[in-house]
Amino acid sequence: MFPSVRSFLALSYTLVVVLILLVLGLRTQALVEKRLRQEVDAEVQARAAEVSRFLTSDTDIDLTEQATRGIIASSGDSGATHLRLYNPDGVPAVLPGSLPPIPEADARELKSVRDQAIRTVQGRDGRQFRLVTRRVMYGEQTIAYLQVASALAPVNRTATQLRHTLLYGGILAGIVAGVLSYLLAYQALKPFSSIVEDARQIGAEDLDRRLPTSYGVGEVSRLAQSFNSLLDRLQKVFDLQRRFVADASHELRTPLTSIRGNVDVLLLDPELPPATREALQNVSAESARLSRLITNLLLLARADAGQSEPPARPVDLHGLVLETVRQARLMSSTVDLRLVREDQASVMGDADQLKQVLLNLLDNALKYTPDGGWVRVSVYREGTWAKLEVQDNGIGIAPSDLARIFDRFYRAERSPHGISGSGLGLSIVQWVVHAHSGRITVESKLGEGSIFTVWLPSASALAS
Ligand code: ADP
Repeated sequence: MFPSVRSFLALSYTLVVVLILLVLGLRTQALVEKRLRQEVDAEVQARAAEVSRFLTSDTDIDLTEQATRGIIASSGDSGATHLRLYNPDGVPAVLPGSLPPIPEADARELKSVRDQAIRTVQGRDGRQFRLVTRRVMYGEQTIAYLQVASALAPVNRTATQLRHTLLYGGILAGIVAGVLSYLLAYQALKPFSSIVEDARQIGAEDLDRRLPTSYGVGEVSRLAQSFNSLLDRLQKVFDLQRRFVADASHELRTPLTSIRGNVDVLLLDPELPPATREALQNVSAESARLSRLITNLLLLARADAGQSEPPARPVDLHGLVLETVRQARLMSSTVDLRLVREDQASVMGDADQLKQVLLNLLDNALKYTPDGGWVRVSVYREGTWAKLEVQDNGIGIAPSDLARIFDRFYRAERSPHGISGSGLGLSIVQWVVHAHSGRITVESKLGEGSIFTVWLPSASALAS
């Protein structure tokens, strides 16, 4: 796969350019080579015809002398050709000048020659030649055999030069095409990168933001408009859902409070049969749970609507922790809950919301720690931060669940049966901590326990 559209486009363009150049180059090379060969052949044929003409012009003169005259007459602009002459029996005649580099033909070969057959031969020095063999006739009589050859070296040299030019030119063109197409693709796709970056910054909490619609490119601006209308629709759905949750929670609260009140009154009756008392206690516990759930839902709905900005009042974290731990001890008698470090620390924010954070963390720690286990709470002052730590040696959280436990309504798959919960506790914790400009981290090992750490900016740091 390609890492980006840019590199995909650049590579595709480069491949197309290189392919076209390759086809064109091979075709040009073949055409030029063919044309040059044809020229050499024409030259060889012309010279053979010329010498042949001399040989047949006056048969009274000695063949060698004739040939010598022919060579001299035709040697003006044909210095690159070589000649061999044979008498009718195929015996080579000695011609002036040095021995030609083409191999000597034997009589059988000469006698079976087709008229003006031309072929490529290897010379004595290893070079290649185009060679024509010709039977020289005077009337019906063969008076000689003639061979004329011309070296192919100049043709080969030109072909090699052309090949190199095309090769290096092709490589250069490929590189230029690659770089140019990458730059062009980069330039053309830049608005898309901007739109992606802008869209990435829009989260569930700021759905009222919109993308700018002027990206300088028609298609991208239209994409931004479509994205914006999608956000419009999404925001409407979110608002509806938020209003529904807030309204429903609000409406449920009043009857539930009345149910709890009435059940509590009924439970005051000392004459109640045990079975009825047990049933009423169940109703009371379940309605308390329902009440907590509704409170949480209402809190999150308000948080989503941006209505629950925490007021910035100094909160004594140390006192708040002491009080909450004392309260939490009532939740479980089988787990040892201790405050192990209590630095003095003060933060800015809402005491009720911060207490809710610690209560939710302690509720979880106690719930997910089996009987006989322990939970440790610590408050540290670290530089400009106040650090609140809740550690337990309970069942721990699997790595696959860790990333999702702060999601709304998420409960780990391995949550033991019988432990009730709504999956909202940690979402509220995270929201409150973020609203107080803090952060929360969690470390956990399955079967060994968990540590939840909340960092809040200390009041002195915010004041300065
Ligand atoms: P719940 O109401 O289910 O406890 P939370 O949002 O508080 O919802 O927690 C989400 C999930 O994270 C829980 O269902 C549980 O699986 C896991 N979890 C939270 N705290 C702990 C803990 N201290 N030890 C083990 N698991 C925990």
